[in-house]
Amino acid sequence: MASQEVLWPIYQIQKLDAQIALLQRARGALDDGAALAAEVTQHRGDILSLQESLRQVDRAIRERELELASLEEKLQKVEAILYSGKVTNPKELRGYEGERESLRRRRERLEEETLIRMEEKDSLNERLAAAQKVEKEAYARWQAHVAKFRADVAALDAKYAKLVAERDEVRARADSELLRRYDQLARQRKQLVGLVEQNACGACGMLLPARLVKEYQVNPDAELTCPTCSAHLLWRLPGADSARPA
Ligand SMILES: [Zn+2]
Repeated sequence: MASQEVLWPIYQIQKLDAQIALLQRARGALDDGAALAAEVTQHRGDILSLQESLRQVDRAIRERELELASLEEKLQKVEAILYSGKVTNPKELRGYEGERESLRRRRERLEEETLIRMEEKDSLNERLAAAQKVEKEAYARWQAHVAKFRADVAALDAKYAKLVAERDEVRARADSELLRRYDQLARQRKQLVGLVEQNACGACGMLLPARLVKEYQVNPDAELTCPTCSAHLLWRLPGADSARPA
């Protein structure tokens, strides 16, 4: 059993601990921006792979351009021979003409392939620009989020430190035996003190029997417990000794 005066600090500790637990939950629920960071990483990966595709396309275009240049050279040589008039043998002439045709066909194919690669390059460049824009926006979102997260953490940590200091100060002057019992119950998520409000126990919320209320009214110093949850009943707050619950 415990008097109203010793129950008061315990009740304060109980309330502060509840607020501290709420803060810890809020702190744990804060989003540190990991999902947004993963999004940025994903976009950066997209950019790298597009850049790699662009390098490959550039290489393919360069290869075809080199091949075209050497083809052009061969074609000019064959045409020079054909137009020189030096080759008169019909069989030899047909041979050169055949070579010219095959070189021309090869040139046409290479030019078509180069054109396709050029179009591919244009589309890759467009996709790269879009990916870079998306990455930039995602990065800005992540930065803003992290800035807010850090501010939120700092604010919650400051509140937490203040509440813990306040609670420890109350603990220092609380009854040690009750404190021990309080800690025991807290571990089981139970409350040691129930503040009586409108004839109900603040620990479990149940309405107190009329006889118990009467008992208190007859003897305000009676040390009573809640018949439902066994919490010590705190009927009045300090400085309101004469006040009676409604
Ligand atoms: Zn109760």
